[in-house]
Order: sequence, then structure tokens, then C-alpha cells
Amino acid sequence: MAKIPDKIQTWQMVQPTTKNKETGEVTPGKLEKKEIAVPELAPDDVLVEVAGCGVCHTDLGYFYDGVPTVSKPPLTLGHEISGTVVAGDEKWIGKEVIIPAVMPCRKCILCKTGRGNRCLDQKMPGNSLGLYGGFSSHIPVPSIDLCEVKDRAGIPLSHFAVIADAATTPYQAAVRADLKPGDNVVVIGITGGVGQYVGQITKALGAKTVIGIARNKEKLERALKFGTDFCINSTDKDARAISTEFRSYCKEKGLPNTGWKIFEVTGTKTGQEIALTLLGFVGKLIVVGFGLAKTEYAIGRLMAFDADIIGTWGCLPEYYPIVLDMALNGKINMEEFVETRPMSTIAETFAEAHKVPPMKRIVLEPDF
Ligand SMILES: [Zn+2]
Ligand SMILES: [Zn+2]
Repeated sequence: MAKIPDKIQTWQMVQPTTKNKETGEVTPGKLEKKEIAVPELAPDDVLVEVAGCGVCHTDLGYFYDGVPTVSKPPLTLGHEISGTVVAGDEKWIGKEVIIPAVMPCRKCILCKTGRGNRCLDQKMPGNSLGLYGGFSSHIPVPSIDLCEVKDRAGIPLSHFAVIADAATTPYQAAVRADLKPGDNVVVIGITGGVGQYVGQITKALGAKTVIGIARNKEKLERALKFGTDFCINSTDKDARAISTEFRSYCKEKGLPNTGWKIFEVTGTKTGQEIALTLLGFVGKLIVVGFGLAKTEYAIGRLMAFDADIIGTWGCLPEYYPIVLDMALNGKINMEEFVETRPMSTIAETFAEAHKVPPMKRIVLEPDF
């Protein structure tokens, strides 16, 4: 039985990277090892001993790129968490769990109408859960949304951190896309942590064709082993050139040039331009990636195409067990996409991942 600690050990973001608007001078962000009190747990709360917490592009955005967190620093980042319940709500004690990256309030109109993934009162560890985040020894969370890992089939518990966010956001995106068996899919940014799961999950849900678009050759080759049928390397190509390549593939394979479901995962202007160029008759563009770029498009084409552009945010906790089952049944692969490191490497790991997106999701394991 894991013991209840007196204190929580944690890696706090004391301050994010800041840039002086006038001088352009950059003050580096600071991560510090701290000890914080274990809070009084409400009746429906639990304390989870963290097994692993994934390093997400979102964390790097908070730390390096001026994306503000809802709870102001100092706070601990990290929202892709797996672990074991050690205190609080009796019926959860001893259970191994995945903590959903976004936890809806369950009370508001959005929650009551099935749109809780975008609840405005939602709590996200490492952003809007006070000072608590996953890069810690323990974290207090509400028990209602926990996803129990009943039998992890010998896979280390820390690896399941990738289910929280990296693998579930794509599932929600597929639901938003109304993905049906036999659909044809394009994933722009198939090589990223979330993008590769969009490829795997849409294929697992019965997509007939998955075409992946990205720049990294090695990762594109890997995508072909995990559900992607055809890849387009977008290096040094504009949207037109990619569209030509896409159409000639469709022609060669006898695929329709209507009804494609296009997932844009990069959040970049280039990615969005490719997506909008590929969007055709009765097509759907699902915006999964976040970015601040302004991309131009003749909206009237949507009318002419009878097409949709929709956004998608996070994932309802209700879908977590479905995605967990997909991972345990081998419908999607986790092991080839996870690398674990000691949590004490957090500063180096952040710097490295910020410089070059890693081959695998890096999950940090507490070593306080
Ligand atoms: Zn994430
Ligand atoms: Zn709500």
C-alpha cells in the first residue's frame, strides 16, 4: 500500500520565459524543485501518486512561448498523468488511474448538453487546477472523471500518461468529424504526438484510407507502419503542389475526390493552407491544432462545396475508457511512441523538446 505523504514534491514553473516588448531581451523561464503542502481533500477528491506525466507541446507553449496559464505562476505544469490513488475518496484508494487532461464541471449548460469537453469551468492540471500539475510526486484531483486502468497487461503504468490528451484528443476529434467506417482521411501533421494518434485512431475506427502529410522523413516512414496508407512529405512544397500529389494518388487508387475528412493538427499557417486547399465537395475540415496564425479563405466556397470547418477541443472523460481499451487491445500502439525519463531531467527535456520535436512522447517519472 502506497503511503500518504506529508508533502508534495514538485517541479514548479516559478516563472515562464518572458520577452521585453521594447528591447526584445529574453529572460529565461525558471523551473524549481519545491515542496508544497498536501491540501485538505474534499469528499469527492483523491490524491494520486504520479507514475508518469507526459511532456506536451502545450507545456512548452506555457513555458517558452508566452501562452498564459489560467492559474498564474508559480504553478506546476503537466496534464498528461497516470498514477495510483493513495488517499481521499475510499472507493478509489489503491486503484491505478489515468487523469483526464480536462475535467468538466458537470453543472453548466455545455456539460449538460454533451459539450463538456469545452466546459468553460473545466479544470486542467498544470493550467487551471490551482498550483497543481503532473510534474510532481502527487496531485489532488476530483475522482469523478478518473479513468481506471484495471489490467495494464504488463505495460508500465507511466506509459498510460499518453492516453491523457495525446491519444484522447484525436478520439474526440474523430467524434466531432462524425467519422464512419469507410471514410477517407487526411492528417496534416501526422508525425506529431497528437497527429500520429489521429492517424492510428481514425484507422482503428474504420477509415478506409489515411493519408499523412508532414515533413519529417523518419516519422513519416513510421506512420506507414501504424495505419497510414500513404504519406506526402511537405518539405519545400506549397499547398498547390501537395494538392496535385494528393489528387494523383486518389486517381491512381480510384479514390473519390469528394467527402474527405481533413484533420489539421499543426496549428500553423502552412498546415492550415494545405488543409483549406484540400477541402472539397461535402468535405470536413477538423481543426485540432492551435495557433495564432490568420489564414485567408473564401468562406463562400463552403456554401458551394456543402462543406464544414469545425474546431475540436480536448476530450470528454467518458471517452477515456474507450481509448484505453483500444490501446490494450492493440488497435492503437502506445509502446512505440513513448519514452520515459526521470523527472529531474525536466529542464533539459523541455529545452530539447522545444528545440526539436522528439520521436516519441517523453513521459517523466518522479524521482524526487
Ligand atoms: Zn497535452
Ligand atoms: Zn461545465
